[in-house]
Amino acid sequence: MAELVWFRNDMRTFDAPHLSAACENADEVHACFLLAPGQWRRHGIGPNHVEYLRRSLIDLGGRLAELNIPLHVRTADLFSDAPNTIITLAKELDCTRVHWGRDHAFNEMERDRATRKALGTEGIEVREHDTQWVSRPGSLRTKTDGPYKVFTPFLKSWRLALTANLEGTGRNRPTPRPGPRPNPPQIPDLVPGFENHVNIDDWPIGEVACLAELDRFLTERAGEYGRNRDIPSIQGTSGLSPALACGTVSPRTCVLAAREAMERSPAAVPGLDVWESEIAWRDFYRNIMFEFPRVSKDRAFRPDTEQVVWLDEPERFDAWCEGRTGYPIVDAAMRGLVATGWMHNRLRMVVSQFLSKHLLTDWRKGEGFFAQHLVDMDFASNNGGWQWSSSTGTDSAPYFRVFNPTTQGRRFDPEGAFIRRWIPEIAHLSDKAIHEPSVNNDRLWESCEYP
Ligand code: FAD
Repeated sequence: MAELVWFRNDMRTFDAPHLSAACENADEVHACFLLAPGQWRRHGIGPNHVEYLRRSLIDLGGRLAELNIPLHVRTADLFSDAPNTIITLAKELDCTRVHWGRDHAFNEMERDRATRKALGTEGIEVREHDTQWVSRPGSLRTKTDGPYKVFTPFLKSWRLALTANLEGTGRNRPTPRPGPRPNPPQIPDLVPGFENHVNIDDWPIGEVACLAELDRFLTERAGEYGRNRDIPSIQGTSGLSPALACGTVSPRTCVLAAREAMERSPAAVPGLDVWESEIAWRDFYRNIMFEFPRVSKDRAFRPDTEQVVWLDEPERFDAWCEGRTGYPIVDAAMRGLVATGWMHNRLRMVVSQFLSKHLLTDWRKGEGFFAQHLVDMDFASNNGGWQWSSSTGTDSAPYFRVFNPTTQGRRFDPEGAFIRRWIPEIAHLSDKAIHEPSVNNDRLWESCEYP
């Protein structure tokens, strides 16, 4: 009996319940991945993320080959093409069962419903598994059985359910299966239409590299996370978001490893505790996406905020995109994003607040720009972050939470180290003047080519 494992954003062999289940039951196991360039374009996903995903796929092929499991890569341009592609493959390989990890994004759920139905008509069974979160979206409810809308009570409930949700998590992976080593999968050198121009070689790619990075972070940096996580000029955070977005490392493994690190090193507990809560934020936004499907349809989480009239002034948006607003911390962050495909969390908050609350530009435009550039593009976290910042989302403080970009710069980049890296035109200004060049230092600033 043969079974098929359909990998999505859970591209790993460690803590991979879909793969483990197939390996427990079947005489023969196959794996597959569907490239969906047309659908990715519709979702506004950009080349940096797709290239990271493509390289992660190459790694997955290698890891599966070590287990003697062949990976079949197919293109199903749109999600609507997925049912036929999966049925054809399952029949070709004589598979009687297909495993996949649940996906609670709106279009993905539609795709899975259609595929399950189509497979059912062919007598092929589907088994779904939890691969992309710690707590399954929809599983945590308030005392009155409602959905959580605010993070802090969600976190409390998330922690209460943690022991049960981590059960069975480990770094174990299936043992190699008997049989010959499979041929390497056919993975294109490039997904057409997704030519990326940023260097992603410095990111850990693939599960072994990502697990090693997790260990390094937990041993060397997590203890100071509470203090360092807001400073963009240093590497105070894990940098694991691209890996989590593609699922080369599982969020459960991250939390389990953090818990083990807490036991090993009590002094690091405060930092590790905050870091764990960031993984909970990730689950929180998945929960919001599941409980409030309107957020996947370009709608505000808070319906009353749909009445906001945003300014439609393309030159403001262009200045923001190109890092020439005249606010150094905003411009440095945006230039860094375009050049590297990455932005620090503190800066994501600063630039998103700036676009929506200073330039009064629709947050959806910023969300789309981030999706085009981020290596770690993840719909739930991106949408959740943008809506939080523009006060159309889950921030419990209402619209009057407005970050002052100059104060933010002074506080989190006090010597201007980050600004100097990305805005060489003003690198010569003093630590004080660099945050507000036009106000503090007329003479020096006038000679700069900076707005
Ligand atoms: P760490 O600080 O090491 O945190 C560990 C992990 O926790 C992260 O890798 C991430 O998976 C998760 N996490 C951390 N902070 C958040 C958060 N605020 N919300 C949800 N999950 C979080 N994150 C993405 O993964 N993809 C996105 O597309 C994305 N878009 C964002 C857009 C905006 C406007 C904002 C404000 C935040 C966005 N985030 C996004 C969340 C956060 O900025 C990144 O996850 C974080 O910067 C990644 O760096 P790290 O891996 O070093 O994080």
